[in-house]
Amino acid sequence: MSTPVNPQLVSENIHDLQDRLARLSPDRDVRIVAVTKGFGVDAPRAALAAGITMIGENYAQELVAKHEELSSEERERIEWHFLGRLQRNKVRSLVSIVSVWQSVDRVELIDEIARRAPGAKVMIQLNLSEEPQKGGAPLSEGAALVAHARDLGLDVVGLMGVGTAGDAADSSVAFGTLVALAEELGLPERSIGMSDDLEVAVGQGSTMVRVGTGLFGARAPRTGV
Ligand SMILES: *Cc1c(COP(=O)(O)O)cnc(C)c1O
Repeated sequence: MSTPVNPQLVSENIHDLQDRLARLSPDRDVRIVAVTKGFGVDAPRAALAAGITMIGENYAQELVAKHEELSSEERERIEWHFLGRLQRNKVRSLVSIVSVWQSVDRVELIDEIARRAPGAKVMIQLNLSEEPQKGGAPLSEGAALVAHARDLGLDVVGLMGVGTAGDAADSSVAFGTLVALAEELGLPERSIGMSDDLEVAVGQGSTMVRVGTGLFGARAPRTGV
């Protein structure tokens, strides 16, 4: 069972977040990806109703289930961003749904996406804190992965990273490193910043924050698959 969302509250949270981002970054537009994992189809619907069209999901099955519940009009408006750790064999079930693959972190995944979804938009995810339980490639592999994806005709739009939970100073350094590499490689998007570290991320040059709990409230703990 997923936690229900209150569309009125979600709309208020979205407007508050937009105001906050405009204050934090007066000169640069920072866009919002609404992360709906752990919630039902009412979460992407509430985000859409408030004008947010970029919706993020972490789990293939959950994304497919939500997509199937949406109307064709809603499907046309949503741009799904895949954010989670991705097994190669799940790519096929997602190619007709996902617009931006943000969590691409290894050669085999690049090869599979290029084969199944030629020219797709991808981001390379970096694991800057090198915590093994997190997805993402080591910083030292970032440039080579970007080059490989470009060679295969993928549209590499940016870099994605997850900060170090509870450590703003560490996250700030990590985000700065990611932004520097994105600049060096000519990548416009820097998908950094979540509910708890978006200020630090925007300060370092985020162009896209990925926010779940800050919009929809606390998620129920994930059980089973
Ligand atoms: C869950 C998740 C988010 C959103 O996290 P919140 O703390 O709920 O804002 C963003 N990015 C990724 C990769 C996630 O897994």
